[in-house]
Amino acid sequence: VPTVSIYGLQVSRLGMDDTVKYLTHILESEERRPFQIITANPIMVMKALEEPDYMKVMRDAELLVPDGTGVVWAAARTETPVQERVAGFDLLHELMKAGEDYHWKVYLLGSTPEVIHATAEKLRLQYPGVQICGVRDGYFKEDQDVEVIADIRKAAPDILLVARGADTQEPWIARYKEQLGVPLMMGVGGSFDVISG
Ligand code: UDP
Repeated sequence: VPTVSIYGLQVSRLGMDDTVKYLTHILESEERRPFQIITANPIMVMKALEEPDYMKVMRDAELLVPDGTGVVWAAARTETPVQERVAGFDLLHELMKAGEDYHWKVYLLGSTPEVIHATAEKLRLQYPGVQICGVRDGYFKEDQDVEVIADIRKAAPDILLVARGADTQEPWIARYKEQLGVPLMMGVGGSFDVISG
């Protein structure tokens, strides 16, 4: 993947269509290694510059896409601009669209029980070809991680979407990515609140 370096973070230069093609290839390939996508915005970049642990999470992600317009702006000031903004909310929907053709299984983790169930219902209606194979709210404590991970593993999703706020969701995915054994994982912030509403 062609990238542009922003404060030492390698951000993908692919546009939305190419990003979805690339991720489809990742999902449909034999290997299916744990793959974390981070939708990078300036707040996350600033946080990474201040907190070495968060920087490591960002660096270790398999793909950073330019979500924030500030990241697109920064890239435009280099010799290797990005094609366009790849917003997490849009990417979520594009993955669901592609998922209809491939019958991907998707697990939704995060937000309140009301929001997550309403989101699952909306997505099932909008993308009947996709199987929502599990849902779970995002208000659990660290000592419940084991149980949450076990439920996700049992559901065996192709894609795991995590909405717990950027401070929590990206480090959580990074920490458990090998144990989760999901081929595509992405933090989606407030997306479920929007979809359910
Ligand atoms: N959220 C969650 N568990 C938490 C905190 C937040 O599941 O412990 C959910 C919240 O319900 C919302 C999403 O994470 O759906 C994003 O939360 P918020 O907008 O507060 O986080 P930000 O993206 O601003 O960091």
